[in-house]
Amino acid sequence: MDWQRIRKRPEDRLGANLADYDACARTFSWAQARALLDGLPNGGLNIAHEAVDRQVAAGNGVRLALRCIGRDDRVRDFTYEALGAAINKFGNVLARRGVSKGDRVFTLLGRVPELYIAALGTLKNGSVFSPLFSAFGPEPIKARMTIGDAKVLITSEAFYRRKIEPWRKELATLQHIFLTDCSNNPPEGATDLAAAMADCPDSFETIWTAPEDMALLHFTSGTTGRPKGAVHVHEAAVGHHITGRFALDLRPDDVFWCTADPGWVTGVSYGIISPLTNGATLIVDQADFDAERWYRILEREKVSVWYTAPTAIRMLMKAGAGIAGRFDLSHLRLMASVGEPLNPEAVVWGVEALGKPFHDNWWQTETGGIMISNFRSMDVKPGSMGRPLPGVGAGIVERCEDGTVREIVAPMTSGELALRPGWPSMMRAYLHEDQRYRKCFADGWYLTGDLAMRDDEGYYWFVGRADDVIKSAGHLIGPFEVESALMEHPAVAEAAVIGMPDPTAGEFVKAFVALKGGFEPSDALRKELLGHARQRLGPAVAPKDIAFRQNLPKTRSGKIMRRLLKARELGLPEGDLSTLESEER
Ligand code: AMP
Repeated sequence: MDWQRIRKRPEDRLGANLADYDACARTFSWAQARALLDGLPNGGLNIAHEAVDRQVAAGNGVRLALRCIGRDDRVRDFTYEALGAAINKFGNVLARRGVSKGDRVFTLLGRVPELYIAALGTLKNGSVFSPLFSAFGPEPIKARMTIGDAKVLITSEAFYRRKIEPWRKELATLQHIFLTDCSNNPPEGATDLAAAMADCPDSFETIWTAPEDMALLHFTSGTTGRPKGAVHVHEAAVGHHITGRFALDLRPDDVFWCTADPGWVTGVSYGIISPLTNGATLIVDQADFDAERWYRILEREKVSVWYTAPTAIRMLMKAGAGIAGRFDLSHLRLMASVGEPLNPEAVVWGVEALGKPFHDNWWQTETGGIMISNFRSMDVKPGSMGRPLPGVGAGIVERCEDGTVREIVAPMTSGELALRPGWPSMMRAYLHEDQRYRKCFADGWYLTGDLAMRDDEGYYWFVGRADDVIKSAGHLIGPFEVESALMEHPAVAEAAVIGMPDPTAGEFVKAFVALKGGFEPSDALRKELLGHARQRLGPAVAPKDIAFRQNLPKTRSGKIMRRLLKARELGLPEGDLSTLESEER
């Protein structure tokens, strides 16, 4: 088969929501996309209204909105109407306690129905929804809830006791804690969510929100400093909706499975909002990856559109095409992937083992929604992320020393991927960090921090990150957060953290540690440090490997040169060493 290009036949394009990319890119306007939504009176807009109430009002209340499959295979179904009623109850739970517009509601939950109800109920109440990944340990949770001024937390009793209770008193803003799976003897100051909801009526008037009102707070990481809270507004629904239509080709009769966890942006934009605004049925699986289980879900639920990630695809490849062959996947009409580089082999494997290519697309927490995509109607070039969404201006640029930005027009020349701001789901701020936010923009461009190339047909190709953040199993990890946790151990004088290549997860986190006087490297200490990091950070963020070093390479101004450590570790050229401290050379 042709590895360079998977050609789409006319029948592949037939009926695609985006049937003619070039024509659409010429005529598209965001106003047209906005007109597909209801809005609220007087120019208002509310994500929860668009996701649920609009469907119920259009007579689709009896259709299945959400099917949550438990670890034990127990299924909990919600029609649009039932989801609406549950959301209303949750809205009342908040409103009764004086939680109002702009207040931050955090969740720390597995993929259980309460997470989806809390997300939409929070938005309907005009409050701000901020999801935390349930595999985070206490440190990342505390940092994010502190930065985000958390007022409400929804979590399980087990998570609460293990990850929150030990530091809970340090967070003065936190006023309400609701627990799922609440025992008869709940922790002090916490409320049983089920009881609170049972006590509330199932009607609730959407709190009026302006399109620019804050709706979602998603945390992401940079090379240095604390996690950054990317602020998204209700207007983002316009982007979630249209990208679902164009890039995922979503229609009301689709059964859609997004395997991303709502603790990350994909799991909210496409794991909650977009499929619902498009009137589809959303499948949620609480369990972790398991090849057979995943194929069984695809078959049994008759999934028609599947949005997953390269690490998962590589794990399916590892499990072998033989397993796939045992299942009836004939309902699957579109497969898409996001979050990390999708190797061309994986795209081709999709065709060979599942009968269809994976359609790679690119975006990030800050962009709020898909920006670059292999659309259903376009030929797929394995290894390429596709072309920009209609309405999104993209370019490859170079930052100049005088602070300006120069566009690189020559094809297949590497530079920084940049976007022209102005799409609805773009972040509006990094919460409390105006300077960091402003640094993302120059000369009318939003600079993504990714390196990429564009070919002569306008397809974009990922090259790498311009900074030191790590992508492991699709999760973005800031090295600084990991280093800080290691430094809290009494034996650690200095720590540096890098991403090392991993054939399945893309990268894994590796730490280098210099010990304080009086401590000697040993296997026991290595294990202790790994355990310390895992306990504080959680398994999603903690290093998988730790190496001891006498010294860590530093610039003259004292900054640890992670890139040099990485180059040495991988046997790559060490690059420019002019800023390296002399004794380190
Ligand atoms: P996050 O903000 O956690 O969603 O991570 C966004 C980052 O993931 C991007 O800036 C890229 O570095 C990476 N990423 C997302 N999608 C792709 C893709 N299709 N190919 C390569 N890298 C990707």
